Amino acid sequence: MNIEQLYDIYKQYPSIQTDTRQLKAGDIFFALKGPNFNGNTYAAAALEKGAAFAVIDEEAYYTQPEKMMLTSDVLETLQQLALHHRQNLDIPFLAITGTNGKTTTKELVSTVLASAFKTTATAGNLNNHIGVPLTILRIPSDAAIAVIEMGANHEHEIESYCKIARPTHGIITNIGKAHLEGFGSEEGVRRAKGELYDFLRQNKGTVFVCNEYPYLLDMSKGIATVITYGQQSADYTGQPLADSALLSVKVTSHEDIGQIDSQLVGAYNFPNVMAAVAVGLHFGVPAEKIRSSIAAYAPSNNRSQVIKQGSNTVIMDAYNANPSSMKAAIENFAGITAAKKVLLLGAMMELGADSVKEHQALVDLLQRTHWHAVVLVGGDFIKTNHPYIFLENASAAASWLQQQQFTDTYLLIKGSRSMGMEKVIL
Ligand code: ATP
Ligand code: MG
Repeated sequence: MNIEQLYDIYKQYPSIQTDTRQLKAGDIFFALKGPNFNGNTYAAAALEKGAAFAVIDEEAYYTQPEKMMLTSDVLETLQQLALHHRQNLDIPFLAITGTNGKTTTKELVSTVLASAFKTTATAGNLNNHIGVPLTILRIPSDAAIAVIEMGANHEHEIESYCKIARPTHGIITNIGKAHLEGFGSEEGVRRAKGELYDFLRQNKGTVFVCNEYPYLLDMSKGIATVITYGQQSADYTGQPLADSALLSVKVTSHEDIGQIDSQLVGAYNFPNVMAAVAVGLHFGVPAEKIRSSIAAYAPSNNRSQVIKQGSNTVIMDAYNANPSSMKAAIENFAGITAAKKVLLLGAMMELGADSVKEHQALVDLLQRTHWHAVVLVGGDFIKTNHPYIFLENASAAASWLQQQQFTDTYLLIKGSRSMGMEKVIL
């Protein structure tokens, strides 16, 4: 059996599943392998549960040839099938990568586009070598546009995703410090994310660039169409109004949109909102739909959520953290007008040799502002010089917070995913 034949089966059964626990009758099961599991061992069970077909890569499990495809590598077959489907879809594909704000930008952009067109976007954070092909294979044949999030922690990853998704449009949200272990340096991060621009440069693509990041403007040279957004001198301009916890944006280049009151925390979400405005206007979404869909979007997953607790306001940002998003969150918090401000910051992971230095840099940044209290939690914060409270983990921070009995206080809670900082207010 070849990819053509598998594609014929997919057209009849266009729902892919890789987990038998979530399998529905009529799905095609792809027997992927992970560090702790071998999907091949579940293939027979998948068919028993009603799967229409199974793709496997170990001969020992090739028990029902009429309903199975035996390939040399299931993951590669999944990626090839996705490319095949991509080549049958003659619609704009917008790829989104960058260090911070990919999912937020993807959600904002796709909610704007979906208000006017049939749109398929990456679900949640499925932005890797499995998520990208699965997203493509979820796109129905009558879709008008696709939005694909691409994450990376090594060079050549984005390049490989571009070969499957073949984007026509792209956004790099920003480039900062994250996954330095895998990339080696910020320069490495730049090269890796730049692979999206490289693909679009070679394929007469279009990019949307925030003109407040000169390095992105620089990197985008030579791309056929460069559309800019930002505070001034851009194709699409706006002003952030962020003196309260939630960001509002006044779109100045297109007054018919007017002021957008978002449910997002912080001025650092301004470029994310403007990206959605730029994409919406570029593709012809009506102004009122752009405004209302951005205003209606509320982040989930502890990704910059504002939570009211009695008279306290908690900015919960426990979804992830790296030096650039920590800096953005702290600077934003410093700008909020409130009498009592308390920070509970969990350590940042995956920073390799720079880890202690980056934690110290944050401590130094914190010291420029007067805070009511600062609690540093776990990891390499223990190796820094600081005048603050240090606690081992999120549970200790939760107990500390309970004892304080704060009222009328703003709290910023942020840290790397594995620190579980959301537990602080549970
Ligand atoms: P991941 O790498 O996990 O996929 P992501 O790039 O998709 O992350 P989001 O999930 O959108 O990013 O946002 C995660 C956090 O990044 C937010 O809670 C916020 O702290 C921070 N963030 C979002 N946008 C920006 C931005 N433009 N600049 C700096 N930090 C940002
Ligand atoms: Mg994401």
